[in-house]
Amino acid sequence: MPNVLAADIGGTNIRAAIIDAAGSILHEQRVEAHLSDPDLSAADIVSTIETVLRPMLHHDTKAVGLGFPGFFRGDSGILAASPNLPNIRELALADTLHRAMGIPVAAQNDALCAAIGEHRFGIGRGVENLLHITLGTGVGGGLILNEHAWTGEHGMAMEFGHLRVADERLCGCGLNGCLETYASATAVCNSYTKATGEACRSDEIYQRACSGDEQAKNVIEQAGHYLGAAIAEAIKLLDLHTVCISGGLTGAWPILYPALINTLNARLIPPMRSSVNVCQTSLGDNAGLLGAAVIARNMHR
Ligand SMILES: [Zn+2]
Repeated sequence: MPNVLAADIGGTNIRAAIIDAAGSILHEQRVEAHLSDPDLSAADIVSTIETVLRPMLHHDTKAVGLGFPGFFRGDSGILAASPNLPNIRELALADTLHRAMGIPVAAQNDALCAAIGEHRFGIGRGVENLLHITLGTGVGGGLILNEHAWTGEHGMAMEFGHLRVADERLCGCGLNGCLETYASATAVCNSYTKATGEACRSDEIYQRACSGDEQAKNVIEQAGHYLGAAIAEAIKLLDLHTVCISGGLTGAWPILYPALINTLNARLIPPMRSSVNVCQTSLGDNAGLLGAAVIARNMHR
């Protein structure tokens, strides 16, 4: 089985790796690339990605898979828009890179790639339906239904971070009360600063919470509560039983999980209670990269 080149494209870094059919990372690189600069044109973005990936191609690399933060039109590799990259509109990302690099390229939303990776290689192995949630700078969601990635009609399915869980807090999307304003790393930092007057990194807050700092604990419990509330709404819509969570906030799992599961069960219809398995990723921050490898391999098959 041939190897593929997979890349997880972020606003400040591109992480790329050669990955074999078993999901083993053979060779990896992390390159600083400030793609979130709003002045970059679509052509600049494509050529930056190409410059990073091209030297990593080997003669036995058969395809390239990209996880990219944005809305894709189904499996077409066409990037309709990207919230932080205003110059991108209907960019044929996969086809343009295919022509430039001379190798087939698949591209998909980064949060959906994480769900695909977790389903193939991680905690979601063997389940038919999986909701995967990434708690990072924002909150991302990806859904596997009947063993297939669900993109929605406009590539915008599972904007999980923008489910409304409260009435306050203005979100970057323009709406109020989005989950992302309560349960992202950014939100946790803001809540902690508001409560204590102290600016603190998110991973430090997770550590303090686990060491008994009451204010840090409150902030993490609040994030868990709202996360549980959002998961409950998703479960009532979809009736699925496996939810996987990744991202830095899982570092405070002993505090996060009880708060999350209490609210989740309280907000489910009684027959659904205690039927949902909410667990941490088993792939760490590799899920997105491994999912990008899966979409590359599926295309090549
Ligand atoms: Zn929002």
